[in-house]
Amino acid sequence: EKKQTINFGAGPAKLPQSVLFQAQKELMDYNGIGISVLEMSHRSSDFNKIMNTTENLLRELLSIPDNYKVMFLQGGGSAQFSAVPLNLIGLKQDRCADYLVTGTWSSKAAKEAEKYGKVNVVHPKLERYTKIPDSSSWSLTAGASYVYYCCNETVHGVEYNFTPDTHGSVLVSDMSSNFLSRPVDVSKFGLIFAGAQKNVGCAGVTVVIVREDLIGYALKDCPIVLDYKVQADNNSLYNTPPCFSIYIMGLVLEWIKNNGGVEAMETLNMKKSSMIYDIINSSNDFYVCPVDIACRSRMNVPFRVGKKEGDEALEKKFLDGASKLGMISLKGHRSVGGIRASLYNAVTVEDTLAGPFKLHAFKLNSL
Ligand code: PMP
Repeated sequence: EKKQTINFGAGPAKLPQSVLFQAQKELMDYNGIGISVLEMSHRSSDFNKIMNTTENLLRELLSIPDNYKVMFLQGGGSAQFSAVPLNLIGLKQDRCADYLVTGTWSSKAAKEAEKYGKVNVVHPKLERYTKIPDSSSWSLTAGASYVYYCCNETVHGVEYNFTPDTHGSVLVSDMSSNFLSRPVDVSKFGLIFAGAQKNVGCAGVTVVIVREDLIGYALKDCPIVLDYKVQADNNSLYNTPPCFSIYIMGLVLEWIKNNGGVEAMETLNMKKSSMIYDIINSSNDFYVCPVDIACRSRMNVPFRVGKKEGDEALEKKFLDGASKLGMISLKGHRSVGGIRASLYNAVTVEDTLAGPFKLHAFKLNSL
């Protein structure tokens, strides 16, 4: 009997129960071959099938056009902060890339890119990461190698609900924390990457979807494992891939498909996040979400308790109380404090319902 815990973690995060059961069932003996996926050669035909099935499911769920490669790489989203400029900044002679810096993760990505070329932050620097500067204030570089943004800033709860218009430049997006949470028109992008440990699996694998004509421009100092051409030519098997993480991702993708695909995920994610934002909005500023209404994330809902800048004693009480009620990982990122409820695909409406109701009861009774 599993303890009833509601996991609002920001990543690694909750996985669908059925995926865990299947992984458990197959752990000792995958598909009747007598060994585990953990023990299997990455060059075996069984693993090859897992890779192909996983890639095909992803292509189907996102309608990825044929002229895009899909890669399963290691090093997390952070390795892609380096891989993106190492592979793409040389697309144009000027080696200049445009960055939208709307939170911790795009800020880190921009810093990394500065090692390899010129970085132009296209909007006035933000004092606080609570909004997306209006696109009329952006000054894009004509002839930039690419334009980069983070589609959902996990720490600050800032999510783009539109696709930036780059005036023709290649668009690159970090979708680590909202990947497959809603439909995306892949054809608008040069490259999309996402670590799996939030919406599509466990830590260890990062999906990279890249348009074929952008491959082959890596700087000569690019480490070979980060070179998209090498990885694409070798079907992500240049070296040992994160086999088990890819297998888990395959199970999660199947679960998404069986539950109505990304459209159904979007409907549920809108419903879940509205439930929490509604409580925040009607709390008379007892709960305060600092993020502009227009870009409030459906994946990560950050808020303060007691007052605008957060009453830390009250927040501690809130977290302790939540934990007594079985709700875990609600603490905001250490850099911002406060509370953060992450509502990835595997978090159910029931989890979310239980969350706010219990929190409300908790607020009334104990704070
Ligand atoms: N991008 C985003 C949006 C993230 O949320 C994170 C991790 N929380 C990263 C990148 C970095 O990922 P990793 O820890 O896998 O390197």
